[in-house]
Amino acid sequence: MTWKKKASKMWQRTRILRYLGYKRIGLEKARNRIDASVLLIIVCVVSLPLFLHAPKEARDAAPAQIGKSDQVAEAVHGDLGDDEVVEEQKVSLSELEKRVAAGEIELRVRSFEKGDSLLGILTKEKVPPADRAGIVDALGLMIDLRTLKPGLQMFLFREKSAGAASGDLLGVSFQIKGTDTIAVLKEESGWIPFSESGRVETINSRVTGFVERTFSGSAKQAGVPDGVVGQVLSALDGEVDFATDIQAGDAFDVIYETKRTPGGLELGGKQLVFIGLKLGKREIYRYAWTDGAGLTTFYDARGLAGAKIIMKRPVKARARLSSGYGYRRHPVLGFEVFHSGVDLACPMNTPIVAAADGTIVQLGRKGAYGRYIRIRHAGGYETAYGHMNGYRQDLGVRSKIKRGEVIGYVGNSGRSTGPHVHFEVWRYGKTLHPGKDNAIPSRQLSGFELEQFVSFASGLHADFERHRVGRLPPIPAERPDFIE
Ligand SMILES: [Zn+2]
Repeated sequence: MTWKKKASKMWQRTRILRYLGYKRIGLEKARNRIDASVLLIIVCVVSLPLFLHAPKEARDAAPAQIGKSDQVAEAVHGDLGDDEVVEEQKVSLSELEKRVAAGEIELRVRSFEKGDSLLGILTKEKVPPADRAGIVDALGLMIDLRTLKPGLQMFLFREKSAGAASGDLLGVSFQIKGTDTIAVLKEESGWIPFSESGRVETINSRVTGFVERTFSGSAKQAGVPDGVVGQVLSALDGEVDFATDIQAGDAFDVIYETKRTPGGLELGGKQLVFIGLKLGKREIYRYAWTDGAGLTTFYDARGLAGAKIIMKRPVKARARLSSGYGYRRHPVLGFEVFHSGVDLACPMNTPIVAAADGTIVQLGRKGAYGRYIRIRHAGGYETAYGHMNGYRQDLGVRSKIKRGEVIGYVGNSGRSTGPHVHFEVWRYGKTLHPGKDNAIPSRQLSGFELEQFVSFASGLHADFERHRVGRLPPIPAERPDFIE
């Protein structure tokens, strides 16, 4: 690195630190004016004694001198003024987002996968080395880069590509903790950090309606997005049988949230936050609540999440039980062994799903189990899945996973005689029969968390207090009209 490059890098760093220093006290926009004023005061203070102690002839000439220092200040101010225009008009995340919405530039979304690093992704995206270094540098000023974890989305704004070459990168942004935005934006002088919290707006959309034939069909027809319908099914899985419990005339009430940037970009997909169902005389109201560990669960209005039975056959296909739980003659070893789980035979690459909400605690090859995942659930439960062909790409140890979410694919790895998943249920270090009802105990919010939940839920649905009482109101004879 030549001294020139070094100096320019140091200058760049100084400017970034100055920006961040002002940002901390909320005066980043006025920093040029403040600096110019301070400079002017320093010039005055320094020149004042000179002026007072100057000999008479010099004192006569002093006005010219003061005029000169004014000119200096003017020149400095003018220079910084231009700089200000560059920073405040050219470098704006909202501007980039608007240009994406207008189709002028491209947006690429990359999810961090297991083993991905920021530098690795930038290299794969063919970002030139100098830009890569600038981005890593500027981002490192705002956050610890190790917090860029699997599942996090990175938004890359780039010029439209001409032919095979990809267009120049203009900026990258991330959504941290839902509403905090961090970004680095390209300016003529280099990469500039940007951060703002509360920038992303959360919009709640509510759809109400009645079931005609099926819940899914009627909800979609009423305007509930497909993904949200899927979230309703999994939120009430084990509680409502959507094939048999639902009849024509039953009512539904769905609220989902969308996160949108000031530039009009939608981030992270639509998330179900409330589901209300009126099935004949039975009413069900569930509010989504994300706990301190980052796991979202659906609670009733009293803050109670019902017990959930661990899925007995966590595969997305009709599985044949090729070997049950308990003592049996082992097909490979040929003698009586204890079979600690069940074997579910399905076609190769059938998706395997998590049998309950939880956190992945093991993911990788494990002797005879082959490719293996183990998930920890509430209430001391764990489930394990063996002989997999592969894992879902973005998963790793510590990934949060929802019941019914795909974790990997059926395979024949490890000690196995054909494609199947070996499925185990554990509780406090002992295996249980996966075919029995293994209920993860219910959870009741309490204390401060309950207060937070109530404040969130009462703001979400006008009927929260009524949902909370738990007493069912009289059912009108005609189509129920519990939805205002
Ligand atoms: Zn087995």
